[in-house]
Amino acid sequence: MKEFKPLFEGHTAGPLYIAGPCSAESREQLLAAARGVAAAGVGIMRAGVWKPRTRPGSFEGVGAEALEWLKEARAEYGLKVITEVATPDHIEAVLKAEIDGVWIGARTTTNPFAVQEIADSLKGIDIAVLVKNPVSPDVDLWAGSIERLLNSGLQRIAAVHRGFTTYDTSPYRNAPQWSVPIELHRRMPTITMISDPSHIGGRRELVAGLSQEALDLGFDGLMIECHPTPECALSDARQQITPDELKQTIERLLWRRTPVEKDALMNFRLHIDSIDNRILELLSERMEVARGIGEYKRQHNMAVVQQGRFNELLTAAEARAEAMGVSRRFIYRIYTAIHEESVRQQLDEK
Ligand code: PEP
Ligand code: MN
Repeated sequence: MKEFKPLFEGHTAGPLYIAGPCSAESREQLLAAARGVAAAGVGIMRAGVWKPRTRPGSFEGVGAEALEWLKEARAEYGLKVITEVATPDHIEAVLKAEIDGVWIGARTTTNPFAVQEIADSLKGIDIAVLVKNPVSPDVDLWAGSIERLLNSGLQRIAAVHRGFTTYDTSPYRNAPQWSVPIELHRRMPTITMISDPSHIGGRRELVAGLSQEALDLGFDGLMIECHPTPECALSDARQQITPDELKQTIERLLWRRTPVEKDALMNFRLHIDSIDNRILELLSERMEVARGIGEYKRQHNMAVVQQGRFNELLTAAEARAEAMGVSRRFIYRIYTAIHEESVRQQLDEK
């Protein structure tokens, strides 16, 4: 395994914070954001110059012109500045402007051809590269993108967890599925792990809670979207916070980590997460069968609830659970809840 270096030299204690607007919109907006980011004590500013939008017709960024504003922000407020790249052209422009770092967006990480082109363009250059997780919860694809960069000789690499597109993400915009970044970190123990609560939550009220959760799970830092006037933002307006809110959020965050605890605790959590995922998958599979039963009963004019059958299931489960060290009372509550949901699904209620 090739070794990672710190994302930026000079960072010592505490979480690594990156903040800034989703997009660079104008010189004034960017400089106002930079002032706020610096006032919150954050040393690295993000701003998207080229925006990958899921659908055409949305704001696609102002392009290379905004790199000049980023440089101005850096000079004025002593920040490091980073932006998103997706093509060799973007990289050429970024290198020419001597931007401090780049990130690869979630839609780009999904595509090995694009990532390889980026890795080729960055060959032999010592620059910070942040790799967002791909939109699907595919740890191999994420790790593969990082390996492509390592193969090009890059070492200042961070993985950015921004959540995953799944069927039901509520209350989040992108489901966190914490077990995925934890598994990536298990495979690459020395990589810098950053969480992006803004894109996970999709709503500014969720940012603080998700930030604390990430730090508690052992992440090294956070990337938070911050805009001087979030409600007027040209992209991701719902999830950006003001510089004051950024400052408050950071002040309230607790950094509980000690290296030893982190490793032991991370292992337990990894295990718990993967068990919880299996429970969820099994529950979803069970409900799918229940819907099939519902359909069958409808076709055969049968009643949905057949109390005798449920009582049998419950009695058997209670006895088995007790033998396995789980209380009857607990199993009774779980089974009743599962049965209730099963009936609801059989009746096809939303
Ligand atoms: C962004 O950081 O503004 C962005 C587009 O993020 P993602 O690639 O995670 O969707
Ligand atoms: Mn954004």
